[in-house]
Amino acid sequence: MLCAMAKLLRIHRIFNVSVVVWLLGAAISHAQTPPAFSAADEAELAPPAKGTRVLIVTGIDYPGHHWKETAPALKAILEKDTRLSVKIVEKPALIQSRRLQEWDLIVLHFMNWEVPGPGKEAQENLARRVREGKGLMLTHFACGAWQEWPEFRQLAGRVWDPKLRPHDPLGSFKVQIADPEHPVTRGLPGFETLDELYTCLTGDAPIHIVAKATSTVDKKDYPMAFVLNYGKGRVFHSVLGHELPAYTNSPVMGDLMRRGAAWAAGLEPK
Ligand SMILES: [Zn+2]
Repeated sequence: MLCAMAKLLRIHRIFNVSVVVWLLGAAISHAQTPPAFSAADEAELAPPAKGTRVLIVTGIDYPGHHWKETAPALKAILEKDTRLSVKIVEKPALIQSRRLQEWDLIVLHFMNWEVPGPGKEAQENLARRVREGKGLMLTHFACGAWQEWPEFRQLAGRVWDPKLRPHDPLGSFKVQIADPEHPVTRGLPGFETLDELYTCLTGDAPIHIVAKATSTVDKKDYPMAFVLNYGKGRVFHSVLGHELPAYTNSPVMGDLMRRGAAWAAGLEPK
């Protein structure tokens, strides 16, 4: 009996100590959590007055991905379609803003390397706006964003699986048009590129592959660009775009990105 009481007392004590530690931890982490973004940051989300509004979200990635070079290159590529008005923001946390709904197409050009992705409110905000009919585009390692968010697999169609072989060694390969009838790829020829041929995608959402490439390592075909629907919204996802030359070496790469963006934004690609 004594022994049982002693045990109970001990459990009680441990429980109390745990509760205090937990409360302290919660209070400290709450106090240390900085605001996701400032009013000045949010003011950057004021959309352009004219055109189809395209927001490229960047600002963090794997260190080998030089988003400060590739984001402006992508913007220049997209703006060759004069219907698209493109802006870059360098704070993924802004995805949480209500102003996100003022944009027609969000382009995810970031990967939250070694830190959590934008939190639950941002996730719900992004998913909701696509579900309700706005567009989404992803480039290269954006497939690796939000590893902690299960619904991202459905939204992105395919995501990075770190257990799989990541990619062929950086080098030249041919991107083949997998569906010459799809509005995104209609009239586009296959093209040579210098890029990473990603072999690391996983997921079971229904996707439609519009461009593919054959690995020089295992001779299998892998999707390089695909489209899907998420609710009423359109998603264009391309894993191409490791570094600047990947965007600039072939004009067809530019055509593919631009046509994919237009399609996801609900326009006829041209
Ligand atoms: Zn890369």
